[in-house]
Amino acid sequence: MSSGSELPSTSPVEIVSIGTELLLGRIQDTNSFWLAQQIADLGGSVARISIVDDDLPTIVGVLRDAVGRGARTIVTTGGLGPTPDDLTVAAVADLLGVGTVVDGPTVQDYLRRRAIREEELTPALRAMATVPAGASIFPSPAGWAPLIRADLDGCAIFLLPGPPQEVQAIFARYMADHFGGAGAGRAAVHRVYVDMWESEVAPLLQQVMDAVPGTYCKGYIALGNQRFLPIDVVARGDDEPGARRALDRALDLLARRVAEAGRDFQR
Ligand code: ATP
Ligand code: MG
Repeated sequence: MSSGSELPSTSPVEIVSIGTELLLGRIQDTNSFWLAQQIADLGGSVARISIVDDDLPTIVGVLRDAVGRGARTIVTTGGLGPTPDDLTVAAVADLLGVGTVVDGPTVQDYLRRRAIREEELTPALRAMATVPAGASIFPSPAGWAPLIRADLDGCAIFLLPGPPQEVQAIFARYMADHFGGAGAGRAAVHRVYVDMWESEVAPLLQQVMDAVPGTYCKGYIALGNQRFLPIDVVARGDDEPGARRALDRALDLLARRVAEAGRDFQR
């Protein structure tokens, strides 16, 4: 989405969901949906979402392409576990041209949580503590795989595990700060209903988008009923009150235009 205000320094953002099960249609990629929502709420701009196979060259390629496109943040999910199809750490190490290391503090954390000695550390836990050399590591509030941050060419690459509850806990604990820090904007959204066809309302939505910079309006025919078409109005601002003001302007203008057309508008 283009923005009326300056984009935060952490945008554009790319989200990469990793997992063959996602491409086989066995598991729905809800992580990217959830992450996109959170990042948009914080005023970030997601430029692309990719879903890729558990395949090393493919993962390296999608990350390299994202950095090449100028992404300032990449968030990956999946492939941080201990099984042979978990390749995200190896892919990032390849991308950075570094090796992998076993992270000492993560191992200590595992020993404490499992109440075991270092000799008793399982290969699975050792694998989960293995990270690209030089990366920053943050313990997970919800699972075993830590949050891993690596940086390349001005792009912060965050590696999150696959399980949705771990993604959500890690995001709340660490990522919200990354996106909500200095210079971040905010977005505000409201859904309204009009008794118009999509083709009738489309020019009015365009007028709103033109009049209030940074606004995005979208009608959802697949969510409509016989009479009413739902429309999302999304507005951006430099902060929360700014986003709300832009949203109110956009909603007021849309309400006026719909009234001029002699149609119903439900706010
Ligand atoms: P694990 O330690 O469990 O192996 P992981 O980081 O390797 O974690 P995956 O093996 O890729 O992650 O996935 C773990 C679980 O999360 C699986 O049940 C998987 O189907 C689910 N999952 C993975 N990616 C997504 C996604 N994008 N959206 C929703 N669920 C997902
Ligand atoms: Mg796994």
